[in-house]
Amino acid sequence: MEIDEAREVRTTCPYCGVGCGVLAKVAADGQVSVRGDPDHPANFGRLCSKGSALAETIDLDGRLLHPEIHGRRAGWDEALDLVASTFSKTIAEHGSDAVAFYVSGQLLTEDYYVANKLMKGFVGSANIDTNSRLCMASSVAGHRRAFGSDTVPGTYDDLELADLIVLVGSNLAWCHPVLYQRIAAAREKRPEMKIVLVDPRRTMTADIADMHLAIAPDGDVALFTGLLAYLGQHNALDRAYITTHTTGFGQALFAASALDLAGVAAATGLSEDELGRFYSLFAATPKTVTVYSQGVNQSSSGTDKVNAIINCHLATGRIGKPGAGPFSVTGQPNAMGGREVGGMANMLAAHMEIENPDHRDRVQRFWNAPTVAEKTGLKAVEMFQALADGRIKALWIMATNPVDSMPDADAVEAAIKACPFVVVSDVLAQTDTVRHAHVRLPAAAWGEKDGTVTNSERRVSRQRAFLDLPGEALPDWRIIAEVGKRMGFGGAFSHATPGDVFAEHAALSGFENDGTRDFDIGAYAGIGAEEYEALEPFQWPAPSPATPLWPAGHLPRKGGDRLPPRPSPITNYAGDMRASKLPISPLAGEIAGRSEGGVQAGLKPEGESTRFFANGDFYTLDRKARFIAIRPTVEIRTSPDYPLILNTGRIRDHWHTMTRTGKSPRLSQHIAEPFVEIHPADALRFGIGDADIVRVSSPRGDVLVRALVTARQRQGSLFAPMHWTDQFAAKGRLDTLTAPLTDPISGQPALKHVAARIEKF
Ligand code: SF4
Repeated sequence: MEIDEAREVRTTCPYCGVGCGVLAKVAADGQVSVRGDPDHPANFGRLCSKGSALAETIDLDGRLLHPEIHGRRAGWDEALDLVASTFSKTIAEHGSDAVAFYVSGQLLTEDYYVANKLMKGFVGSANIDTNSRLCMASSVAGHRRAFGSDTVPGTYDDLELADLIVLVGSNLAWCHPVLYQRIAAAREKRPEMKIVLVDPRRTMTADIADMHLAIAPDGDVALFTGLLAYLGQHNALDRAYITTHTTGFGQALFAASALDLAGVAAATGLSEDELGRFYSLFAATPKTVTVYSQGVNQSSSGTDKVNAIINCHLATGRIGKPGAGPFSVTGQPNAMGGREVGGMANMLAAHMEIENPDHRDRVQRFWNAPTVAEKTGLKAVEMFQALADGRIKALWIMATNPVDSMPDADAVEAAIKACPFVVVSDVLAQTDTVRHAHVRLPAAAWGEKDGTVTNSERRVSRQRAFLDLPGEALPDWRIIAEVGKRMGFGGAFSHATPGDVFAEHAALSGFENDGTRDFDIGAYAGIGAEEYEALEPFQWPAPSPATPLWPAGHLPRKGGDRLPPRPSPITNYAGDMRASKLPISPLAGEIAGRSEGGVQAGLKPEGESTRFFANGDFYTLDRKARFIAIRPTVEIRTSPDYPLILNTGRIRDHWHTMTRTGKSPRLSQHIAEPFVEIHPADALRFGIGDADIVRVSSPRGDVLVRALVTARQRQGSLFAPMHWTDQFAAKGRLDTLTAPLTDPISGQPALKHVAARIEKF
């Protein structure tokens, strides 16, 4: 790649779901520098510690630079032929469900699209699942139950416009730092804004909260069903909204009333006074956003938690309005982009449904595919169990490290070791997963490849290459397409560029979409190479100008129809592009012309971002949202042998299994070693002193970590970060302790709690 020292490349951060814009520059001596993109609407120039240190993590140390077969260097042709022939032979002998792909929220949307197309449309199985299953599957399931679609209603603007932000199971200060900074800045301007944190731990996020509810682990269902009952009892319902736009309210309220306030207090571990103060604040504040992430999703009752939250917003009509709505914040940079292309075992591409024969038929015709998977495939935990019992005989793992990140990690490692044929495509040569692969395929890393990602507010942004591909590394989409060709599906995988893949993905989203499917970026269906290169961040939906507002015969309903939301941010970016002298996409101009109001460049008037459901009209058959009747249950999970509940999570400066952030000494300075937080009373009970080395055990395994005695931790619970592996700390793999227990609806593992014990080492 020719280096232009004056040129900063506009790309996006590869870490969390905030999706910050990054400007990357390569100096003449090869040094890379990064800064926040002041024009990106996720971060407006801000970056957190991880984003700021990106340049320190892109050296070639430890990179996988050439294909390998059984540990010896091989050529691409030999490796790809072996992958294709072994998958084809396995399918021929054992059927299409004998193979599987386990992919990643680190993949770009184009990679995800090609992998999903190959597995669901050409192999004919839905055995493709992703580490996003560990992240936000319960939100997907909750959205689909309530809205009939996987739609995040709100936008980041809503966090700044709200009068009350309720943060549930979300340590935003460390896990989504730039969103936290945006909230903190908004609060500085409007000190009357209130913030409530619901979290068993007093995390750093509590420092900004007016109220911290140190809830018992998994008390969230009781908390929010209790809130619904309170809203009913205190005349705080929006009855007109409930009547016009929802169904099932009566049953939901009845179920929620199973516990009285004293019962909710017992189930949540909160006092009746705390509950009363929170409930009355929620009831009195129309502009309320409830933000939630892994504390809600990573639970055996994750989907019920999501719907308990959504129920309260539907009951008060607080959805799709500026400063109001339930808001799922995703963990990974492209967790939402993977959902858009059907990169999960229970979804088809473009938010279509496997169970829907019309959707299957539409996708099959669009792809001109020999088949389309007819039933849900194996979700992540099920997939590795199928590997263990021999049902899966060939597995391809892409851009993820399940030997360290899956629950019951030792069992997952044993299953991978026993599998007859394992392919891993990765950027690194020696992760705990890569070392078990029969075939290793060198993938392009951040900064070396082009594509798109979608952040938590449905905003699609480009990742752009600014470095040459090292060694023989290739982008994931191309590796998958090459295998597809060698399996005999050539014409379907003849894309020459990631822009071609994006254009096909966009066309599928708009294909026969009469406004009854939420995900539509049909405006980009014909995007050419120049437009793709200049593509500005935009929020979906961005329907094609040819898309009718409503299907023929649709009658406007009393109370007003939801118009397809205006893709107005593009208006801003068209202006920004002129200001920055970047080429202006004709598409951006065309879409800008369709938006109302003549928004000026750089201005972000209230309500301009794309929201869903402002006037009702959900993606159900009757266009009404569903209340879900949820009965709060209280489970006891500890035992005399394992008397504590271990909660797992992230720290500020590391990411996943540290394969990238572990390269930066600066990031490692923040917290240098694995630890476990324990309340002083528990420390006394178990004879633990501050900074002692302790053994934390569950029925599945144990780790050795340093004790941090702190009153920030709830009594009866422990907290330990998920990042360290044996590469960085002896006996540090935390997920050797966690259980393969999943939410029965979403299949998401309950990584937030496992019964555990602690003892001094
Ligand atoms: Fe990257 Fe997330 Fe930090 Fe933004 S907040 S710089 S996306 S890690």
